[in-house]
Amino acid sequence: MAETFEGEHFCVKCREKRTVTGEVVVNAKGTRMSKAKCPVCGTNLNRILGKA
Ligand SMILES: [Zn+2]
Repeated sequence: MAETFEGEHFCVKCREKRTVTGEVVVNAKGTRMSKAKCPVCGTNLNRILGKA
């Protein structure tokens, strides 16, 4: 039911972009973010998608 976003997320640990599917969430300021996990190191990845 949750909206998903597929695309590049930057992993701060690997210092590389990972193309993964994340779950779209909206923060308190109304900014849409995609939350995913790096398939290589398991670090949480966040990508800002912009205003809802
Ligand atoms: Zn990583």
